[in-house]
Amino acid sequence: MAAGQPENKNKKRVQGAALPAGSRWGAEPPCHTANSMSLISADTPMMRQFNAIKKAHPDCILFFRAGDFYEMFGEDAVRASEILQIALTTRNKQSKHPVPMCGVPYHAFEPYLDRLTAAGVKVAICEQMEDPALAKGVVRREVVRIVTPGTTLALPLVEADRNLFLAAVLLPTGGRPAGLALADLSTGQLEVVQFGTGELGRLWTVLLREQPREILLAEPRSDTERESLSGFRSQLTDRFRTAAGAPPAVEEVPASWFDRRGAVRRLTEHFQTANLDGFGVEGMEAAVRACGALLAYLTHTQKSDLSHFTQIRPRATEGLMWLDEVTLGHLEIFENASPGGGRNTLFAVLNRTRTPMGARLLRRWLGAPLRDRAAIEARLEAVAELAANPRAMSTLREKLEGVRDLERTIARVSLPVAGVADVVALRDALRAAQGLPERLEGWRAALLAEIREEFDPMAEVHHLLRERLRDEPSLKLHEGGYIAEGYHPELDQLRELSRDSRRVISELEAAERKRTGIASLKIRYNKVFGYYLEIPRARQEKIPPEYIRKQTLVNAERYTSLELEALEEKILGAEGRIGELEYAAFQEVRAILAGYARRMQAMAAQLATVDTLAALATVARENHYVRPALLPEEAPRRIAVLGGRHPVIERLDFEEPFVPNDLELDAEQRQIVLITGPNMAGKSTVMRQMALIQLMAQAGSFVPAESAELCLVDRIFTRVGASDNLSLGQSTFLMEMNEAANILNNATDQSLILLDEIGRGTSTYDGISIAWAMVEHLHALGALTLFATHYHELTQLAHGLPRLENFNIAIQEEGEHLVFTRKLKQGEADRSYGIQVARLAGLPDGVIHRAHEVMTDLLAGSDGAAVTAAATVQGAARSSPVEAARARQQLSFLSDPHPMLEKIRALELDGLSPRDALDFLYRARANLESGEEF
Ligand code: ADP
Ligand code: MG
Repeated sequence: MAAGQPENKNKKRVQGAALPAGSRWGAEPPCHTANSMSLISADTPMMRQFNAIKKAHPDCILFFRAGDFYEMFGEDAVRASEILQIALTTRNKQSKHPVPMCGVPYHAFEPYLDRLTAAGVKVAICEQMEDPALAKGVVRREVVRIVTPGTTLALPLVEADRNLFLAAVLLPTGGRPAGLALADLSTGQLEVVQFGTGELGRLWTVLLREQPREILLAEPRSDTERESLSGFRSQLTDRFRTAAGAPPAVEEVPASWFDRRGAVRRLTEHFQTANLDGFGVEGMEAAVRACGALLAYLTHTQKSDLSHFTQIRPRATEGLMWLDEVTLGHLEIFENASPGGGRNTLFAVLNRTRTPMGARLLRRWLGAPLRDRAAIEARLEAVAELAANPRAMSTLREKLEGVRDLERTIARVSLPVAGVADVVALRDALRAAQGLPERLEGWRAALLAEIREEFDPMAEVHHLLRERLRDEPSLKLHEGGYIAEGYHPELDQLRELSRDSRRVISELEAAERKRTGIASLKIRYNKVFGYYLEIPRARQEKIPPEYIRKQTLVNAERYTSLELEALEEKILGAEGRIGELEYAAFQEVRAILAGYARRMQAMAAQLATVDTLAALATVARENHYVRPALLPEEAPRRIAVLGGRHPVIERLDFEEPFVPNDLELDAEQRQIVLITGPNMAGKSTVMRQMALIQLMAQAGSFVPAESAELCLVDRIFTRVGASDNLSLGQSTFLMEMNEAANILNNATDQSLILLDEIGRGTSTYDGISIAWAMVEHLHALGALTLFATHYHELTQLAHGLPRLENFNIAIQEEGEHLVFTRKLKQGEADRSYGIQVARLAGLPDGVIHRAHEVMTDLLAGSDGAAVTAAATVQGAARSSPVEAARARQQLSFLSDPHPMLEKIRALELDGLSPRDALDFLYRARANLESGEEF
């Protein structure tokens, strides 16, 4: 814009929103940003107004509405122009204090806004609150909404199949639990959960799983609080750095927002309930306090009544299977880190939902499988029935598709950003829902029958929207053209009048042509001059005296007349009034809809359930899954899978067809299965497929197998030895051990544990010893365990541990070549195939030949004290040449006299300078590492 441009009318109505009681925000800038803010020199009343508003929102970039633009000034402009890559200009170039500025057009500002919020910036949208034409002095402006990374509604930033959460965390203090609240502004979900001091790991699990875009924390009030806050913040950075997602923006808000009394009052006022008992959050004080802070922040930023948050849901921590982020990652449930493998996840294979709501629910089911047998059976029963009736299911699914993202549509309609398109989307969703009761008829599985009985397609709301909206409405909120005829008498009259006036105008045109004899006379309209009579310059001599000149063009003159002016007033008046009436009617519809939000949300949840069950049934049919048989709780614990397949790998387009495998575990005889075999044999695959089958079953899905008999497990743990993960750049032996410790400390005899090459991240001896001790521990614990290793030595464990059995994945040798059978067999792998695998990988023949020689030497040269070491060399030979060299060094150490020992003996210690001693050590170490003769 330019400062001189006319300021546009802006009729956007904004619901007032009081700040939460006791808030320091708004009144006073939060202290952590106040210092860094500099106001700009105020040479006009508008700039003074800007400064005042900026002062109240120091931590936001201010979108300052002026005419057709949102302008940014000063530091805001510099920052925004960098992020948005738009031109920076200067206001008041001549003056002593030029002000940097930039702007974005108001009719297309969303993409700019999205880019700013995606970059972690908060934007305060400041609108003109009165008609500039009528304003005395500076137009009144107010911030109507603050858009933050966690409260964006921008469709490009909101992924259809996942929630976009804003989180508030109350950190634990003095042995009291931590509270977490999660809100998705785009769906109206509001959930709380709390964690005892021993369960803080779970807080991280939830945060890493849900990947909130923004986290609210209380500003510290004491040194202890400051410490725990900074501890949390640095953990947050660390944990999110190693996880796939981007770290959330952190917002420190007034600690008083977390106060218990205020929180409860704010929440009960919002839900209009006397207390919070109806939400099942008793005993969850920390969670409620976090929730109170969350609501305060939402109110502060959205400045609307948030009527689509209709309830608080406590997130269950009991009765669900806890899957930590490492396990989810390793099993590739939602993410696949390998390049180009983004789509190869369990979620991607199972996600045959027809609505985004269903996809989000499936995500939940997979992230937190059930432990309650009856609840799992209920899902399986429904999946079974749907899968057995493909025709009926497919018509049901077609109908579901028409409902689209009902949940998010309800939310958008409830928010001030609502446009005509959102209400139209709601009408269309409800139209699709009208056909659903019929499609739900006849299903007998309890879950489906229950939904059918309770399902209410909300015919009255659909009816209301059909009655009030045009079939093909205009989407221009302030201009009208969307409210149906015959619904509002005054509107109909005005429309009649407006149509009529147009007819009168063209009649006037004809009459004037006749009267003046000027056939080229035209009556036209434009925004600046309104209606006018246009007459070519050549015909000017015929102009009647009562015409009033309005404008002179090169070839024509424009006039008006009293008659035309009167008509114009009528037409424009009618159109303006139509816009106002339609807008009011629109807001009325929204207010009515708000009253139905909760019931419509319940309907959305039912449809999501049906959609998810139908998706599972569809995959089950197409991919030939079977219904798992769940063993009763009292039965001995057992997992028996025949013809099991890996649900993701079997779908990949590889040359070799997938080879199914059988595997049985049982607590009494075969509690631990140790799988050996060379690299690439398929050890990891067969283990993961067992875990995936277990997880799918407990989520309520059929499983990729010929048959599966499963006990229920409380958790699945999986850990991969460090080097398997090297490509992610996150592998340290310490991390591997941290994760291993987590298993040993948290697993129970009800858990299923997968250890894949544990101990690989350190030297051979260490690795074997640690793995050995872990297996003994798990054997005593009683957890069903699968352990894959290329350390052949571990097969010896079977001698001491009665419930451990060795399995291997055999390779067949055909001449000099190897064939991967992919078949899991009982017994230990009989020899090392490392060198053969190396050949397959293309190591030069000379190297392969030499490796054979070395191996033969090693095996032949081993005797006495060196036996174990030789075994180690043998094992190491299977893994890597460096390890082999190292192991060889150890071997020669034992088979004394080692040249290094001789050197040490020969040292003249008394005459040795510290410098020389250090040199000696360096040389000795370098030699150990290179494996060369000393
Ligand atoms: P390991 O853990 O023994 O090194 P993996 O389990 O990683 O081996 O398997 C290596 C590759 O072999 C897999 O990526 C897959 O392509 C293939 N593979 C594994 N198991 C099977 C199977 N049962 N059928 C077909 N291909 C398989
Ligand atoms: Mg492996």
